[in-house]
Amino acid sequence: MERSSLYATVDFEQPGKQFGYVGVPYSHNLGGWANLMLPIAVLANGAGRTALLLGGNHGDEYPGPIAILKLMRSLHPEQVRGRIILMPALNLPAVRAGTRLSPLDGKNLNRCFPGKADGSVAEQIAHYLTTVLFPLADIVIDIHTGGRSMDFYPCAHMHLVPDREQRRQMVGGALAWNTDFAFLYTDIAGTGLLPVEAERQGKIVVTTEMGGGEPISAGVHRLTQDGLHNVLVHFGLLTGEKQTRQALGLPPTRWVQSLDREDYRFAPESGLYETLVPLGAEVRTEQAVGQIHFLERPDREPVPVTANAAGVLIATRGPTLVRQGDCVACIAHEVHAAILT
Ligand SMILES: [Zn+2]
Repeated sequence: MERSSLYATVDFEQPGKQFGYVGVPYSHNLGGWANLMLPIAVLANGAGRTALLLGGNHGDEYPGPIAILKLMRSLHPEQVRGRIILMPALNLPAVRAGTRLSPLDGKNLNRCFPGKADGSVAEQIAHYLTTVLFPLADIVIDIHTGGRSMDFYPCAHMHLVPDREQRRQMVGGALAWNTDFAFLYTDIAGTGLLPVEAERQGKIVVTTEMGGGEPISAGVHRLTQDGLHNVLVHFGLLTGEKQTRQALGLPPTRWVQSLDREDYRFAPESGLYETLVPLGAEVRTEQAVGQIHFLERPDREPVPVTANAAGVLIATRGPTLVRQGDCVACIAHEVHAAILT
């Protein structure tokens, strides 16, 4: 692939702790030779694996950026075995704007992979990850939430990659978040995802959906921050004792999956969406999980959105206003443990 015009002000081969930025040359009307400065830190100490920690892939998902910013400040190189590269705001313009898509080019960074050296800003950031940062890493951790559009039951999630050893390592990473659910998902909304490119390069990819919506509870922040720390301990990158759900007095993580397009429920019409079922609740086949009301036709009965099959409501609509075709619910089903090995 073509060489990236992005550059890092940190030396990835240097031991110790460095703060810097990844520069992205671009122009705006009052800045002809401007650069985006994506924050980055590197901590390296001796032999070991490399973990790449990413937040702000989508700009309106803040538990990851906050967890990574805290880790950037608090970690000392003596706590690290190997190397940790931290980037809290991958799509910096979107994080600043509080939007899923970049305000610079209208792109969803998580649909831009593998990227383009001479593409738009988001495509160039994707290309830099694909050609420079992923090759440095053994483990890629990409922290998401449902953003403003969806609210998830906070969970680790992953693709069911075909390579058995890669899959086994990813299952271990997902479990180390110590979330109530671990979720197998499929790409119903297009191609070009960051995890897919990292998986293609053989990386151990660990991702999450840590809630969603505008307010972020203290519990979700704690789960994100404790989980991230524990994943790094699990992979041997940080010293310390690994925390388990058993030691926390919690039941084992429950694996669920939404691998069928029908598991993702879309609004059949525009209107006001009323969620009828709490997140994490068991639902029956054909049970209404929500319904759409019509301001312009108050005489009309609301239109139900039903579960396609029995399972758990793992995600629901964020905003009450819905447009036809918006995803309003996701139903997850029990996983047979055999597919995880
Ligand atoms: Zn996201």
